[in-house]
Formats: sequence, C-alpha cells, structure tokens
Amino acid sequence: MTCFNHSKKDSVGSCKSCGRALCHACIAPGLDSIACKNRCENQVQALDGFLNKAVMNKYSTTVVGQAAVTVMMAGLSVLFWNLELPGFAVFLLVLTVILGFNTYRYYNKK
Ligand SMILES: [Zn+2]
Ligand SMILES: [Zn+2]
Repeated sequence: MTCFNHSKKDSVGSCKSCGRALCHACIAPGLDSIACKNRCENQVQALDGFLNKAVMNKYSTTVVGQAAVTVMMAGLSVLFWNLELPGFAVFLLVLTVILGFNTYRYYNKK
C-alpha cells in the first residue's frame, strides 16, 4: 500500500479514524494510535481518551477482584462436589451467586 497523500511513498499504517493509508510524514505525532496529520488527529485523540476511560471504569480493581473471587469460588465448589462434600459445595455456590450478583449490579450501575 502507498500513502494516501504521497503515491510514491509506502504507507506504514492506516488512520484509526478514516482508514486512509499513511506514510511517516503524514502521521500525526504524539498520539497512541495512527491518525492523519491535521485531519483526524483530534478525532483519534478523543477516541483514544474515551476508550481508556471506558476501560478504566469497566475494569476497576473492585470488579476485577470480585470477578476473580467469583471464578475461584465456582472452581472450589466443583472441587468439593467432586470430593463428595456437596453440602459445603452448595454453601460455596450460594456465596458465588451472591458475589456474582454484586458484580452484576455494579456493572449495571454505570
Ligand atoms: Zn484519517
Ligand atoms: Zn504521506
């Protein structure tokens, strides 16, 4: 592929916003992603900022911790079930459901 603006130059990537192929000279500097210089840099910057914020909100440490515990509890339940301790497994499953429900509620609050 060649640069959208320079038909003689090879492109090094394509703009995240409009998808045009760009050479080094046409890529806006100082951004995490590739963007057309003087054309799409603002859009791409906004997009990156939005994505970063969304990721931070969605995967806050509380939720990640709770999800990890939930998965661990579910695993333990299966383990105890296999050890023929269904009573304890049921107890763990109930705890898992409560934790899972909390995580679910947290997600929906956003
Ligand atoms: Zn662009
Ligand atoms: Zn170019």
